[in-house]
Amino acid sequence: MFRQARWQYDKEKIEPLIFELSEEGKIGHIIPEVEKEIKDEIGNPEDEIPPNLRRKDLPELPQVTEVEVVRHYTRLSQMNYGVDLGIYPLGSCTMKYNPKISEKISRDRRVQEVHPLQDERTVQGSLRIMYEFEEFLCKLTGMDAFTLQPSAGAHGEFTGLLIIRKYLKEERGESRKEVIIPDTAHGTNPASAAMAGYKVIVIPSDEEGCVDIEALKEVVSKETAALMLTNPNTLGVFEKNVREISEIVHEVGGLMYYDGANLNAIIGKARPGDMGFDVVHLNLHKTFSTPHGGGGPGSGPIGVKYFLEEYLPVPRIRYDEKEKRYFLDYSSKKTIGKVRTFYGNFSVILKAYVYVLLMGRYLKEVAELSVINSNYLMKKLLESGEYEVKFKSVMHEFVATPKNWRAMDVAKSLLDKGVHAPTVYFPLLVKEAMMVEPTETEPKYELDRFYDAMTSVEKDSPRNTSIDRLDEVKAARNPILSWRMYLEKSGTSG
Ligand SMILES: *Cc1c(COP(=O)(O)O)cnc(C)c1O
Repeated sequence: MFRQARWQYDKEKIEPLIFELSEEGKIGHIIPEVEKEIKDEIGNPEDEIPPNLRRKDLPELPQVTEVEVVRHYTRLSQMNYGVDLGIYPLGSCTMKYNPKISEKISRDRRVQEVHPLQDERTVQGSLRIMYEFEEFLCKLTGMDAFTLQPSAGAHGEFTGLLIIRKYLKEERGESRKEVIIPDTAHGTNPASAAMAGYKVIVIPSDEEGCVDIEALKEVVSKETAALMLTNPNTLGVFEKNVREISEIVHEVGGLMYYDGANLNAIIGKARPGDMGFDVVHLNLHKTFSTPHGGGGPGSGPIGVKYFLEEYLPVPRIRYDEKEKRYFLDYSSKKTIGKVRTFYGNFSVILKAYVYVLLMGRYLKEVAELSVINSNYLMKKLLESGEYEVKFKSVMHEFVATPKNWRAMDVAKSLLDKGVHAPTVYFPLLVKEAMMVEPTETEPKYELDRFYDAMTSVEKDSPRNTSIDRLDEVKAARNPILSWRMYLEKSGTSG
């Protein structure tokens, strides 16, 4: 049923840590001393480092031979699981395949060796890429202006809220205190609103997983600065009353914020700008296929309607028609200022730009296929009789609850079989939630393989993952990540 486990190394065998292989005096290669005359001429490299910055003790690195180092890292690389090996159905994360050509281009030395402080006349190509990409995002979302500065989705949310706050203050002399957020929003929404100094008002969803309009009407007021809508929301459901919600919020003078991290489901099909939104953020590291995970680099551009444009972070990238050149414009008086160093994560922006050029008119099919893949898997899991799905009218992802197992046990059983688990225990409003987002880049046989793994949780599993119930809260709050600390805590002498 399953193809051979993908991991090459023997999971039953406990491999020694590289520290345990260490022995005094083991070494890779002995590099001959630089001859004295050369040393006298070029000097000692150490002398280049100011004395106060030099380390006082040698680092405590394991002493191993070259072959041991090579085997250590090769083994680690084989233990790793990534989207280049198989499905990575983490709901909300859009772990799609990342084309290698984007990597190749972003590693070109003409890109990598550009310094952010270089004279702008010498980086016209980079500025043009950012300028054109902003223009493209405007068209794609129906917004009037974009900034590529924020480093991630949550950072975009925070930036968007600062813009809203400054606009309300300067244009209307208001300091509204509340941000309304449906209970189906991504967890970063309330966090960003709180960081921006707002009181978070949570509203419930109705039977279909959409915003409860009556509940919304009850909480909107002159204190409402904005409503933040994740759309499709964390249940995978597209908000069907989105127009009405916009009207209700605008009516009381609040602004509409679109969390567009899930744009994958609607890309090329529908535009937040047409739905009445004033601010939107996108996640280039999800929808636009730039590698992410493990805290890697992200990019969370935000787009605004024209009346908010002057509040965007500086510098803006502009084109001087007369001089025929791009330049960085710091002139806005109303700007909220800078939200990160330099101009954004340029290599992430570049990968997204390459992706858009590669996809061209096929970009629409991304949305179609991601929705078809997710609905195919959902229907199949429902028919198996082993899962419940409360909200079935879904787009690119869905949330299932196993009937006979705990979500954690299914997840472990999947890992056991060399299949990546979905997001578990999120969103919080579904019990034993398993949030599945297959993405458009998975072929049908891979979806079927995932289905097989999801429906064959064995009694005696897991075999290769830990059996004990870990105290996961403790593991998250007090992680012991250093080998030395582990030895000290466990009282072993090392
Ligand atoms: C991932 C995600 C975010 C947060 O993006 P980060 O880049 O992780 O900060 C916000 N909203 C939604 C809907 C998301 O899926």
